[in-house]
Amino acid sequence: MNLIFLGAPGAGKGTHAARFAERHKLATVSTGELLRSAIKNGTELGKQANVYMQSGDLVPDELVIGIIKERLSEPDCANGFILDGFPRTIKQAEALKALGVSIDRVLNLHVDDEVIVTRMSGRRVCSECGKTYHVLYTPPKKADGICDDCGASLTIRADDAPETVRERLRVYHEKTAPLIAYYENEGILVTVEGREDPDETSKAVFEALE
Ligand code: AMP
Repeated sequence: MNLIFLGAPGAGKGTHAARFAERHKLATVSTGELLRSAIKNGTELGKQANVYMQSGDLVPDELVIGIIKERLSEPDCANGFILDGFPRTIKQAEALKALGVSIDRVLNLHVDDEVIVTRMSGRRVCSECGKTYHVLYTPPKKADGICDDCGASLTIRADDAPETVRERLRVYHEKTAPLIAYYENEGILVTVEGREDPDETSKAVFEALE
């Protein structure tokens, strides 16, 4: 099963992709995480991507298509995967098709913009493993500000600042939202409302895709 999770930044794609992937033993591929890890490791790609990410803009298609191509060729993707945050433009969707990757379903996780701005102010991410939390909805279970999985401290992503969030939403509506019609046309789109309670949303996601 190969899936795409589509939705505005902060809609909860990462959280629900992780839950669905665990349940179905699928690999999760997040271009945002791959880019953040490139930045952390100081690679040339990371340096190029950082400028765009800091301002809330999309990283150029060529760079992202390059990293996704490499990642999808890794062995864990052979038994199915969820793409979280890719494609984000029609050009990226076309590139995915050109790679011969077949997609079974596209989940469109819908959340209103105002809800997203409020939600993102509580978002935290592990500085080591990248696992995401929310201070209200999905706080760490063991200790405040500490990752349950690896024990590292939780941080606020630089691009989760409110001004940057608004810019990311603007970019989402301009460049990514057209993918909803694109995949609807292909007959593989399913839309789920992202609710306040992540467990309710997970249930809806499972029902929609299983
Ligand atoms: P995310 O973690 O998916 O919210 O991504 C964080 C940032 O990484 C985005 O705001 C973009 O700057 C960049 N990014 C992630 N995925 C893509 C993509 N598919 N195309 C272009 N830029 C991306």
